[in-house]
Amino acid sequence: MTATERSIAAAEAHGAHNYHPLPVVVATAEGAWMTDVEGRRYLDMLAGYSALNFGHGNRRLLDAAKAQLERVTLTSRAFHHDRYGEFCTELAALCGKDMVLPMNTGAEAIETAVKTARKWGYRVKGVPDGHAKIIVAANNFHGRTTTIVSFSTDPEARADHGPYTPGFETVPYGDLAALEGAIDAHTVAVLLEPIQGEAGVLIPPSGYLAGVRRLTTERNVLFIADEIQSALGRTGRTFACDHEDVVPDMYVLGKALGGGVVPVSAVVASAEVLGVHRPGEHGSTFGGNPLACAVALEVIALLKTGEFQERATRLGEHLHHELNVLAGTGAIDAVRCRGLWAGIDIAPSRGTAREVSERLMERGVLVKDTHGATIRIAPPLVISKEDLDWGLEQLRAVLAG
Ligand SMILES: *Cc1c(COP(=O)(O)O)cnc(C)c1O
Repeated sequence: MTATERSIAAAEAHGAHNYHPLPVVVATAEGAWMTDVEGRRYLDMLAGYSALNFGHGNRRLLDAAKAQLERVTLTSRAFHHDRYGEFCTELAALCGKDMVLPMNTGAEAIETAVKTARKWGYRVKGVPDGHAKIIVAANNFHGRTTTIVSFSTDPEARADHGPYTPGFETVPYGDLAALEGAIDAHTVAVLLEPIQGEAGVLIPPSGYLAGVRRLTTERNVLFIADEIQSALGRTGRTFACDHEDVVPDMYVLGKALGGGVVPVSAVVASAEVLGVHRPGEHGSTFGGNPLACAVALEVIALLKTGEFQERATRLGEHLHHELNVLAGTGAIDAVRCRGLWAGIDIAPSRGTAREVSERLMERGVLVKDTHGATIRIAPPLVISKEDLDWGLEQLRAVLAG
């Protein structure tokens, strides 16, 4: 047995089968490249679903983590620690808000946003107890907890996990009239991804986010933007909402906030909204821990230079242009691109997206398929233009008839 086969056999024997990974076993990684246990190199065109926006082993992030590892890593929130206030201040400033509630994973931050919106509904808006309604979009992806899968429209994510949490209503994504029709006196929030990543990088019609902002303001409803995958440079702006000059009431952040080093997520909002929480009403043992704060502070410092947003815009224009050329050859049915982020619908004549991903892997490029026919491209924002071009060359070769 090869080292690859041994690793995969052990994973399949003793790890639950809740994923179907490509048959590559990564041992080390740097920048946009990963190396497997046999010493083969692969270009990472997924970047941990945008958790690795700043690349594998980013020097500044590793140095920040190492320095903090030697000082203190965990206090629990029973005590203050010296990175927490700084982290909350800096993250609130990045978002143009007043307050931060840190958690660990994206799903926990979404749960936090849901609890916050409900509490705001009862305490501030005056919704009768137990009647708060949150409007969500079809084809959403917000995580995997029981409440979150309750409002998923993906049968694979939802089936066999009931009974489901009530209090959510689904409307078609991108349809303002449907959203307007669904808002009633008990509606406390609208929860949306500004771009639906998991669904295949679906970009809503221009003006949609601004329309959601206008409607929610008019009807005294909170606009919660799930920017876990879309924020922190990926689309060429700090937040995907920036493309329509929209500021939601709550930003939900995760993934790249931890720099691919540690899980860090957060809800960021005004004091009026996050101020509804009182001691003991919500929390997390690891949320806002010193190591997480140290890494996230360095992530915020990287974003403040604007360098990564600029790279994502510049390389993204190139990526979009090249993919449109490829679409002209008939190998691709549709391309959606914003910044360094693309959803590509593969023409059925070229095989399923999984088959295309496997053929790319054989040529040293790692991507992820989604929903049968779509592959998603989201390389680390540190990727060089030469490496991106090399990756695209492999895609062209794999799709060439
Ligand atoms: C990844 C993701 C989540 C869930 O984050 P986890 O850290 O996996 O819990 C939620 N929303 C969006 C848009 C995501 O991309």
